[in-house]
Amino acid sequence: MIQLKTEAQISEMKLAGRITGEALALAGEHIKPGVTTKYIDNIVRAYIEKCGAKPSFLGYGGFPGAACISINDEVIHGIPSKSRVIQDGDIVKVDVGAFYHGYHGDSANTFPCGNISDEAKRLIEATKESFYRGVANAVVGNRLGDIGSAVEEYNKKCGFNVVREFVGHGIGRDVHEDPNVPNYGTPGRGTRLLKGMTIAVEPMVCAGSAKVKVLSDNWTVVTCDGSLSAHYEHTLAITEEGPILLTKID
Ligand code: MG
Ligand code: MG
Repeated sequence: MIQLKTEAQISEMKLAGRITGEALALAGEHIKPGVTTKYIDNIVRAYIEKCGAKPSFLGYGGFPGAACISINDEVIHGIPSKSRVIQDGDIVKVDVGAFYHGYHGDSANTFPCGNISDEAKRLIEATKESFYRGVANAVVGNRLGDIGSAVEEYNKKCGFNVVREFVGHGIGRDVHEDPNVPNYGTPGRGTRLLKGMTIAVEPMVCAGSAKVKVLSDNWTVVTCDGSLSAHYEHTLAITEEGPILLTKID
């Protein structure tokens, strides 16, 4: 069931959203050649806890990190590790959630480390742009298919493919609520968007085939063909005045 939020609840969610956004930005500032993914995870965790919040993903389904950190062909759910060193030329996806005053925020970005390939640059830009094309359709009266089709169409136009096995989601008191928010769809189809819906829109985009698999650590999702993947996510509220990005900081 979809949990619609009041304006007061959306205001509360802005607090969790801000902490999430700030922790993610801080992670991005620390990505450089030679640091480990565990080092980045420690920074995220310390910041969230300093704010009096809790990392949403720590312990979620047994996940051992505060952030998911996924490099290059790793799409999502990478486990932070002190033996995984970030290299020049890597693209690093960091996915952060924070729980504060009863609500969650969820946001992800793909950070370049040093000199990355032109293809990697194009992929990161397309993924982000497709998010905004999708969100432009996150208005009252539209349907979920309007968001998903806008995301998918833009990536197709760029020659990239969206992951289908993993999708965005509703968010609020739980980090994953109804409905599912796919990065594909048919315009005018799917659940109608209502005032007070709070969702995470999160394109996961591959330079090659969108076929993915889970590694034997039971978490890390990688592309089957080894191609690069990018991820971009914000938590947003659907209001009469249009979508509000709750995890975006200036
Ligand atoms: Mg996320
Ligand atoms: Mg999410």
